Amino acid sequence: MRYIFIADLTNPATGKTWREENAARTHAIPLGALVEIFRTGVRLFVARHTRDCDETPLYSLSAYPPSDGNQEYSVAMYHGYAEQDIGLVLREAHPATEWRYCFNCQASHTHKRGARGWKCGNCGFTEPADTEEGQ
Ligand SMILES: [Zn+2]
Repeated sequence: MRYIFIADLTNPATGKTWREENAARTHAIPLGALVEIFRTGVRLFVARHTRDCDETPLYSLSAYPPSDGNQEYSVAMYHGYAEQDIGLVLREAHPATEWRYCFNCQASHTHKRGARGWKCGNCGFTEPADTEEGQ
């Protein structure tokens, strides 16, 4: 008997497996965004980007925003929400802040995470952010 995983089947339209197609998808909703769970109407923050075993982008949600000095968000997360399960309410509800090295200032300053990356609180230089976390 031979087992075949659905994710390893080829999409005839593209010639790629479903797993390959899912792996090419990025998380459309950024970390720190406020989302609403369609089924319940509960609103939570995107605290982590993860992936299913077939590489489908998934989201871990928390009652706390992922920001510097606030570790509660990682303690009580609700895992495994797909993009069709949640709706974006606010893209940057609580922008994350982090103490990072600024290549422009050549010193460490508080940085805020925005849509384009980490912005230095001292000079305003924006360092491109990693698009995926928790990989
Ligand atoms: Zn700077």
